[in-house]
Amino acid sequence: MTPIRLASATIIAAVILAAACSSPTYDLVIANGRVMDPESGLDAVRHVGITGGKIVTISERALKGTRVVDATGLVVAPGFIDLHEHGQNEESYGLMVRDGVTSALEIEVGTGDIANWYAEREKGQIVNYGASIGHIKARMQVLHDPGTALLPAGVGGSGIASDAQQAEMEAILRRGLAEGAVAVGFGSAYTPGANMAEMERMFRVAGGGGANCNRVPVPSRRTGRSPRSRSAARSSSTFAIAFTRGLRRARAPSSPATWPPRRSRRHRPSGRNRSARR
Ligand SMILES: [Zn+2]
Repeated sequence: MTPIRLASATIIAAVILAAACSSPTYDLVIANGRVMDPESGLDAVRHVGITGGKIVTISERALKGTRVVDATGLVVAPGFIDLHEHGQNEESYGLMVRDGVTSALEIEVGTGDIANWYAEREKGQIVNYGASIGHIKARMQVLHDPGTALLPAGVGGSGIASDAQQAEMEAILRRGLAEGAVAVGFGSAYTPGANMAEMERMFRVAGGGGANCNRVPVPSRRTGRSPRSRSAARSSSTFAIAFTRGLRRARAPSSPATWPPRRSRRHRPSGRNRSARR
C-alpha cells in the first residue's frame, strides 16, 4: 500500500471510529419493538431512544442506552386513553398500565366532590387521571338517595327534582368545575327522573364553565325524549372531553411502599370495577 492510500485508509477508519464514539447513549432504549404511531402512520420494527423522559429518536439502527428493554415481538405505541373507567384506585391503575392504558378518566358517573377525589390521589399515581363532576352524584346528594355505591338506588335516579333542588345541583357542578373537574358527567339512563329541562340547566352550567358534557344521550328524533333504556343510551351517547381542563399528570407514588399496590381491604382487587362497563 502506498503512503497516500495508507493515509486515506487511516482517516476513514478514524472517521468511522469517531462516529461510533459520538453516537449518543440514551437514558432508555426500547429495542426491536413494532413501533406503531397513529400520527405518522409508522408501523415497523424500530428502536426508540428516550432521554429526559422524552422520545428523542426512532431509529432503524440499534441504539445505545443506559437501560435497554428488548421489545422483540411486542408493540410499542402511545399510551391508550380510557375515557370510561370506574376502577380508580392503585390496583386498577397497575392493571391498566399492563394493558397499555396511561390515562384513566372517570367522566361518566364522575364524582360529587372533586376536591376530595383528587386529594385521595395526591400522593401520586402511575397513570394520568381525571374525573368529571357528576350530575348523577349531585342528584344523589341533593335528593338524599339511599345508595352508597356508584349509582342511585332510589330517589336519586327516579325522583323529580324541584326548582330549588336543581339549583343545588347547579351549585355542586359549578363548585366541581372550579375545583378542577375535567368535564361534567351524565348518565341519564340512571336518572330517569331528570327531565330535559333539568338536563338543559346542567348543560348550561357546563357551557358556562367551558366544559364538555360527557355521555349525554341524544334525544329521540321521534319523541324528543332522552333514551330511557341503557342500551339506547349507550348507542346514542356522545363522548367528548376537554383535556385542557386539568388532567392530572401521572407521577410515581411518593412512597416506594405504595408500589406495588398494597393488598389492603380498601384497595382489594376489584375485577368488577375493572371490567364492568355500566
Ligand atoms: Zn360506566
